[in-house]
Amino acid sequence: MDLGIKGRRAIVCASSKGLGRGSAEALAAAGVDLTLNARTAETLEATADAIRAAYGVTVKTVAVDVTTEEGRAALLEAEPNPDILVNNAGGPPPGVWSDWGHEEWLKAVESNMLTPILLATAVLPGMIERGWGRVVSITSGSVKAPIPRLGLSNSARAGLTGFVAGTARQVAKHGVIMNNLLPGQHDTDRIKGLMGNVASTENISVEEARERAQSVIPRGRFGTPAEFGAVCAFLCSEHVGFMVGQNVLLDGGAFNSTMG
Ligand code: NAP
Repeated sequence: MDLGIKGRRAIVCASSKGLGRGSAEALAAAGVDLTLNARTAETLEATADAIRAAYGVTVKTVAVDVTTEEGRAALLEAEPNPDILVNNAGGPPPGVWSDWGHEEWLKAVESNMLTPILLATAVLPGMIERGWGRVVSITSGSVKAPIPRLGLSNSARAGLTGFVAGTARQVAKHGVIMNNLLPGQHDTDRIKGLMGNVASTENISVEEARERAQSVIPRGRFGTPAEFGAVCAFLCSEHVGFMVGQNVLLDGGAFNSTMG
């Protein structure tokens, strides 16, 4: 399917690895020029080189922490007028409610709520003026069904979800489409870290933790960054012109419900 976005320009945050990289690759395959971001310059440059070689698109890189004000400013300086913004950042650390105080909460809210809100706020005026834009925020299945060990994520991302729900309905008439993509468990470094945490908490091997986690997913396995990226690119495409403020869950059926 032609996604109709060849020649468009995208910022993809936190994209040297994992779900961000999967999204960047799928956008590149659709002919989108990219501005990629991650904190570690070496991995970021390697990813950018691989994408340029595979898809022939223009790829800029900005090695900064996107959850800081300076980082976001540098990213927007490199690409002030993106047609597409894919919001992403690392997830908060696992723990339980009694582990976190004011500082931990502020960090989670800054990373997983305010960073995507402030980036969207910065690019929306240009998108509205040009009459076309796509903002996809990578949140988490934890927004629909809270994950006990990820209370910081459950909470901060719910705040972002509220912002997108309201704002998407205000900008849609200008051709600017905002939706969220909710990953369930995908096989990335993040899931490796979380499985390590489960293994040590429950005193089992990492392999056993992975097997247990995959066995309760109706699909029978974790998702892949490529599967995730393909859906992200679709949400950035010409074809979602009537899809406003939705939360698209990609979890292999793990959230058990008849509807919604
Ligand atoms: P990942 O494989 O660990 O990749 C994270 C990517 O983001 C890397 O490129 C990393 O590069 C970059 N990054 C992290 N923090 C950053 C920051 N502050 N500024 C700029 N770049 C940053 O993670 P993932 O699995 O793709 O997860 C992506 C997001 O989806 C996370 O928020 C995660 O919590 C959420 N999520 C993932 C899953 C899953 O199953 N994988 C499920 C639900 C939600 P550097 O380290 O070099 O910065």
